[in-house]
Amino acid sequence: MSKFDYDLFVIGGGSGGVRAARLAAQSGARVALAEEYRMGGTCVIRGCVPKKYMVYASGYAKALKHAAGYGFDVGAVTHDHARFMASLREEVTRLSGIYMKGQTGAGVTVLEERAEFEDAHTLRLASGKRVTAEKILIATGGAPWRPSEMEMPGASYAMVSNDVFDMDVLPKSLVINGGGYIGVEFAHVFAGLGVDVTVVIRKDRVLNGFDDDVRTDVMDNLWNEGVTTVTGAVISSIEKTSDPAEPFHVQVRPDETITTHAVLLALGRKPNTHGLGLEKAGVKLNADGAVIVDAFSCTSTPNIWAVGDVTNRINLTPVAIREGHAFAETEFYNKPWAFDYTNVPMAVFAQPEVGVVGLTEAEARAQFGEIDIYRTRFRPMKNLLNGNPARTLMKLVVRASDQRVLGVHIVGEDAAEMIQMAAIAVKMGATKDDFDRTCALHPTAAEELVTMRTKV
Ligand code: FAD
Repeated sequence: MSKFDYDLFVIGGGSGGVRAARLAAQSGARVALAEEYRMGGTCVIRGCVPKKYMVYASGYAKALKHAAGYGFDVGAVTHDHARFMASLREEVTRLSGIYMKGQTGAGVTVLEERAEFEDAHTLRLASGKRVTAEKILIATGGAPWRPSEMEMPGASYAMVSNDVFDMDVLPKSLVINGGGYIGVEFAHVFAGLGVDVTVVIRKDRVLNGFDDDVRTDVMDNLWNEGVTTVTGAVISSIEKTSDPAEPFHVQVRPDETITTHAVLLALGRKPNTHGLGLEKAGVKLNADGAVIVDAFSCTSTPNIWAVGDVTNRINLTPVAIREGHAFAETEFYNKPWAFDYTNVPMAVFAQPEVGVVGLTEAEARAQFGEIDIYRTRFRPMKNLLNGNPARTLMKLVVRASDQRVLGVHIVGEDAAEMIQMAAIAVKMGATKDDFDRTCALHPTAAEELVTMRTKV
């Protein structure tokens, strides 16, 4: 008999935690999982899933706006945001229930409370109960970063991404601080739903870290949708006024103030390690507060592992799931493997979408020197009749020495769906010739990926 209450204790019922807990339990291990908020974690409750529904809602608004080109007289339309959010929340609750059933059905003991470390094998639950486990997995995710009142006076007046999902009434105007993917996605969502949106960004373009052509086209698309951008600026303070017509004054430069009805801070996320008692368990953190792990997600304490956003590697749901999966198979099925972080496809659900896999042009040049670039920009067929000015960008980054495709970058409708498929080819090491030998499928936008013949 083990001297511990459990073989595995998982802290956090999000993407990484639930995968690891379920698989470990299915191997016959005695597993418990603690979740302090709602089963499903960020992705299901206040991330990917509700966000994507909001993108769909905004997409309907756009489709209605552009329907006239296809012969529809839509007339005046209204959007009942509270009704939409009620349906969205019902769906999130349904999904959260499925996550719970997935755990209990696999034999995982779910504890709906917070857990913190007492030592490397002992956890204290919010109820005061202590439990012990041979192995512990930290899968506590991350949370939106909100500056302190010292750093940004008035920061507490602003929303962060979690708050967007509690909002039933759309503001007339919204200032978003931050040009990362979350800022860009919400800018499109709210602009599509009729809100007057301004995005304040530190750089000259949004989506820092993405290919420069992608960043340029995403800026164009924000402008196409009527979003105002303020570049080279950050919000330094937010002042609440007594005037309902101008509820907030937002200082973006020493001599520039914007008046708005609401502010959303999309300034990045921080790993959820604060107050977890990690120092009592000897688990080391890096300067950003993320848990330091090796390739197998093991921390500085040999019986404790960490997966997902809390390790701040690639902060995406499928990555957290794969890390949790690799951990469980390595530790409970005697099948050791480590997740490969190369060529992870990524999407930004801007409107139109961004889908990318592999290296940007700048990264490829820095790593390999000689690079061939194939690029096309075109008005997609659908937009020729409907007046939507958005263009599609497709770009292949190819290593000159052996013609291997190192990166695919798409901005356009359904780019996320396309890039999932292109990622298989890139992961397999496809060359430009492999792309060229693939017969086009007509009429699609994706056919351009296999018909680009001229280097730029
Ligand atoms: P989480 O899913 O965050 O789960 C951690 C869980 O641990 C939480 O439920 C939390 O309540 C719980 N917890 C924390 N501390 C404790 C404790 N001490 N005791 C008990 N429970 C605790 N990713 C994509 O791939 N695609 C997208 O389109 C996408 N969109 C996003 C949109 C937004 C607005 C946000 C915020 C994120 C988005 N993400 C997206 C990122 C994705 O949600 C995360 O990468 C993913 O959820 C990480 O999973 P995780 O298991 O590491 O952590």
